[in-house]
Amino acid sequence: MSDSRRQKAARIRSLLETEGDAVFENTTTFNDGRYESVEKLDDYEGLKARARAIKEDAIANLPDLVEAVTETVEANGGTVYLAEDEADAQRYIAEVVEDRDADSVVKSKSMTSEEIEINDHLQSRGVDVWETDLGEFVLQVADEAPSHIVAPAIHRSRENIAELFDAHFDTDAPLETAEDLTEFAREYLAERIKDADVGMTGANFVTADTGTIALVTSEGNARKSVATTDTHVAVAGVEKVVPSLGDLQPFVELIGRSGTGQDITAYVSLLTPPVGTPVPDFDDDETPLAEAGPDRDYHLVLIDNGRMAMRDDDDLRETLYCIRCSACANSCANFQHVGGHAFGGETYSGGIATGWEAGVHGEDSAAEFNDLCTGCSRCVNQCPVEIDIPWINTVVRDRINRGADPDTFDFLVEGLTPDEEPAGLDVQKRFFGNFETAAKLGSATAPLSNWVMDAGPVRSALERFVGVDSRRDLPTFERETFREWFATRGPRVDPADAAREVVLYPDVYTNYVSTARGKAAVRALEALDVHVTVPAVGESGRAPLSQGMVSTAGEKASRVYGALAEHVDAGRDVVVVEPSDLAMFAREYERLLPERSHERLAEQSYEVMEYVYGLLENGGDPDALATGNEAVAYHSHCQQRTLGLAAHTVAVLEQLGHDVVTSDVECCGMAGSFGYKQEYYDLSMDVGDELATQFTTDETRDRTVVASGTSCLEQLDSLLQRVPTHPVELVAPR
Ligand code: SF4
Repeated sequence: MSDSRRQKAARIRSLLETEGDAVFENTTTFNDGRYESVEKLDDYEGLKARARAIKEDAIANLPDLVEAVTETVEANGGTVYLAEDEADAQRYIAEVVEDRDADSVVKSKSMTSEEIEINDHLQSRGVDVWETDLGEFVLQVADEAPSHIVAPAIHRSRENIAELFDAHFDTDAPLETAEDLTEFAREYLAERIKDADVGMTGANFVTADTGTIALVTSEGNARKSVATTDTHVAVAGVEKVVPSLGDLQPFVELIGRSGTGQDITAYVSLLTPPVGTPVPDFDDDETPLAEAGPDRDYHLVLIDNGRMAMRDDDDLRETLYCIRCSACANSCANFQHVGGHAFGGETYSGGIATGWEAGVHGEDSAAEFNDLCTGCSRCVNQCPVEIDIPWINTVVRDRINRGADPDTFDFLVEGLTPDEEPAGLDVQKRFFGNFETAAKLGSATAPLSNWVMDAGPVRSALERFVGVDSRRDLPTFERETFREWFATRGPRVDPADAAREVVLYPDVYTNYVSTARGKAAVRALEALDVHVTVPAVGESGRAPLSQGMVSTAGEKASRVYGALAEHVDAGRDVVVVEPSDLAMFAREYERLLPERSHERLAEQSYEVMEYVYGLLENGGDPDALATGNEAVAYHSHCQQRTLGLAAHTVAVLEQLGHDVVTSDVECCGMAGSFGYKQEYYDLSMDVGDELATQFTTDETRDRTVVASGTSCLEQLDSLLQRVPTHPVELVAPR
C-alpha cells in the first residue's frame, strides 16, 4: 500500500473507533427525524421547488441584491462591508473591534466566521473570543475543528464532553447529565456575554428589502450576544442574501426539518439591526433599562472569498444554493460512520463540502475527502434546494485528477486504459475507471484469468500497485458472455406476436460476470410475451464517472446513445438490469448528452423489475412467471431508491407469493469500486455491518437474500453466509 493510502486507511480506522459511534447515533437520529417530519408536510416537493427557485433567482441577481441590501442596511443605520477574501474580512473585523476598544467578543452561530478563522485572528491581537453555542464552546475548549455543519461537536458523546469539562474547569461537583453540562455552560457563558464588548453572529439569510438577518437556532445565544453588546458584527457569505422577507417562508419550513428533523427549531430570530432595544449595563443596577440609550453600532460583513467566482462556474454554482442544513451529510452512509473529521475539509463537511471547499479554500482542501462520496445519490432527494451533490463531487474529482502530476503515470496499467484522461491520473482510478477493458480481457481468457487473478502474487501486486484490497473477493468472469449466449440462443417471442419490444441493455457485469441475471431477465420478459433483443453496446460510463473521469464517461455515453438510438426511434423500450446504469441514463446523461438525446433515452428506459411490474399491471399473466412462497429479505439499490423504483420489486415479489421484508439502511457500503479500495475497505465493511445486522435478526436470518444492484450483491455476499440473488432470478421461469 502506498504511504498515502496507508495513512488514510489508518485515519479512517481510528475515526471509526473513536468518533464513529457518536456520529452514527446523532446523524441517524437527525435523519430519522427528517423522514418523519417531512412526511407530515402537505407539499414537500412543492416547498423544495419554491426554495430552489428563490435561490436560483437570488444567485442570478446577486450583484444587484448586494447593492440593494447595502442601501437598506445603511438606511437602517448600519454599515455593509463586502470582504474580498479571508484576510480582508479579518482586517475589517479586527478594525471594528479595535475601534471599539473591545477586550472581549462573544459569538454565536457562524460557520462563515470559522471559514475566515476570525477567532485565531482576534485572539492573536489580544482579544478574548468566546463561542456561546454549546457545540462550538465544546470545540473551543477541546481546541478542535467542527465535524458537522449544524452540530459541530456531533462526534463527542455526553460522557466525553463531561470528561472534557471536568479536565478544564474547576467545577463544584462532577458534571454528568446533559442538563448538568448545559447548565454549567450556560452559567459560564452568561458571564462572558455580560462582559463582552462586541457580539458576532452569522446569518442563515439576509433580506435585501428590509436588511433583516434570519437566525434559525436551537439555542438563544445569538439574541443574547446581539442584545447585550452595543456593537454587532454579522458575518455571512454573499450567497445568503435573498430579495425579501417574504422569501424566508419556505426556508423556515425546511431548514429545521432538513437539519435536525424538528418541525421548527427552538428559535427563529428575525433581527433587523441595529436593534432598537437599550444596551443593558450589568454594573448599574439602579438605572432603569428604558433610560439607557439605544446607541448601537452594526456591521454586516458579506464575504466573497471565492463565491463570486463560483457563481460564474457552471458546475460549482449550485453550491451557492446550499442553505447549510446538513441533510446531505445526515443521509450519507459514509458520513454517518466517520463524520466530518474524515469527510470534510478546512471548514465544511459532508457531501456538499466538496463544492464549498473547492470554491473557498481550493481543490487541495477538497481532495482530502472527495473520494468519500461514492455517488450513491442518497442525498439527492434529501436536499431541500435540490442540489445535485454527487455531480459536484464528480466534477471536483475530475478537476483534481486533471491537476495530478503527469510524471506519476504508471505504465503498469497503460494497456488497460483506453480513456480520455490526463496522464497523471491516479493508477487506482484509471484501473477502476477502465473496468470494461479488464472485464473483456478477463472473460476472453476465463477460466485461466480467474485463477491467475486469485493467485497470491497477482493479488499482492494488485494490492501494492493498484490498491485493490486483498480481503475483497474479485469478480469471476464468465467465458461465454451474456450477449454471446443470447446471439446463439436467439429471441423466443416473435415480434409479430409480441405484447412489447424491448432492448435489454447488457451492462458490463451482466455481460461478463453475472450472466445468470441477464438470462433470467430474458426469460422473465419473454414469459410475458415481450420480444427481446440484446444489442452490441458498451459500458454506460458509470465506472469512469465514479472515478471522476468525466470526459471518458462522456465518450461512453455518446457511444451508448448511438447504439440505442435506432431502437429508441423504433419505439422499443430499453430495459436495464443494473440500477446504477439506469440512473446514468436518467440522471447523469443529462450532463453528458445533448438535451433531446438524454430526454428520449431517459423516457424510454426502465429497470427490469419496474418493467415486469408494468407488464403485470397491464394484463401480463403472473402465472407465466415463477411463483413461490419464499421468505425474502430484500435490499434495494441506493440509486434505484433515489429514482423511486424500489417499491416495484417488492410489489412483484409479493404478487408472486413471496413474503418480503426490506432493509432501510441508507446504503450497503460498497457502491461500485469503493469497497475494493484498500483505504476504504474498513469503512465499507463498517457501513455494511448495518445491513448485515438487519438481515441476521430472528425475523430475517433464514430468509432468501435478494438485492438489485451489483455492488449490493457483492457486499452482501461478503457480509453473510447466504448467497444473495437478483430479484429477477426469483421470478423468471426456469
Ligand atoms: S447541499 Fe442541500 S442538503 Fe446539503 S447542506 Fe446544502 S442545502 Fe442542505
